[in-house]
Amino acid sequence: MKPPPFKYLAARTLDEAIDALACSDGEAKVLAGGQSLVPMLNFRLLEPAWLVDINRIPGLDGIQDAAGSLHIGALTRHKTTENAPLIADAFPIVTAAMSHVAHFGVRNRGTIGGSLAHADPAAELPMLAMLLDASITTQSGKGKRTIAAKDFFRGSLATALEPTEILTAVTLPKLPPATGWSFEEISRRPGDFAVAAVAVTITQQGGRCTDARIALAGVGATPIRFPQAERTLIGQTIDAAMANAAAAIVRDQCEPQSDLQGSADYRRHLVGHLVARGIDVAAGARS
Ligand SMILES: Cc1cc2nc3c(=O)[nH]c(=O)nc-3n(C[C@H](O)[C@H](O)[C@H](O)COP(=O)(O)OP(=O)(O)OC[C@H]3O[C@@H](n4cnc5c(N)ncnc54)[C@H](O)[C@@H]3O)c2cc1C
Repeated sequence: MKPPPFKYLAARTLDEAIDALACSDGEAKVLAGGQSLVPMLNFRLLEPAWLVDINRIPGLDGIQDAAGSLHIGALTRHKTTENAPLIADAFPIVTAAMSHVAHFGVRNRGTIGGSLAHADPAAELPMLAMLLDASITTQSGKGKRTIAAKDFFRGSLATALEPTEILTAVTLPKLPPATGWSFEEISRRPGDFAVAAVAVTITQQGGRCTDARIALAGVGATPIRFPQAERTLIGQTIDAAMANAAAAIVRDQCEPQSDLQGSADYRRHLVGHLVARGIDVAAGARS
């Protein structure tokens, strides 16, 4: 199918893009990599009056190391995130997860800002933003906002972004020393969206867990954290029994849907196994 008619602006500056969104009465969409937006246009799921292309705006991409965090510009392509030494060094879990994001061609064009703004519940980057306590920076005619990832994702394909806001960057606070990680994903074919994906970090001191994070994708309307399961691990020496106990909490609390990729029961079953294994691997109990 072909997209419905729209007017197109190739913005040269952030201000120009923000002005265009402000003047559009909510009838404009930002165009970044186009890897989700263009299929939605072609399927006539969206019919915006304007597309505001942000690809030519200087300074919206790139990865910077800044005082205890990494700052990633919204237009940073998935392939850049996947291959960046700064990311591999500070967040090897992100590097590992990127190879599960679609296929090479999509990763060549798709952007981190687009992935977060699109907010597919089965997407890897929104889940990692939740896991890593990311903050998301936006800009509109009213000024800048910083939104915590936990407040950003509101539902399936729904976020806290206003129609006149542009997502400009995401900031990832670095993890404490002695943090292990694990990323587990089941999809029907390589490059497909996750049937279920689990990301875990475990920080340990003196053989005890001081911080634990568990995030899931593909099993709810948004990426989800499980604070109760995380809390059961803190202060403990993590072994297989602890991992299984935390995984049982996650399995019982998650509310997956059935769809063509898999039934709710199958997803719940997967979650139990993937979380137990993820905790085990992140804690280094299994190499
Ligand atoms: C075949 C295929 C398989 C895929 N598989 C996966 C997968 O396994 N995992 C996965 O995570 N993704 C997958 N994707 C999606 C891909 O990662 C997209 O690149 C991503 O979801 C959107 O990024 P984009 O830059 O292309 O955004 P676009 O398509 O340009 O935009 C997507 C949405 O975000 C809005 N938007 C974009 N940038 C901004 C911004 N800076 N500020 C405000 N709003 C903005 C747009 O208006 C639009 O609503 C797949 C895509 C395809 C085509």
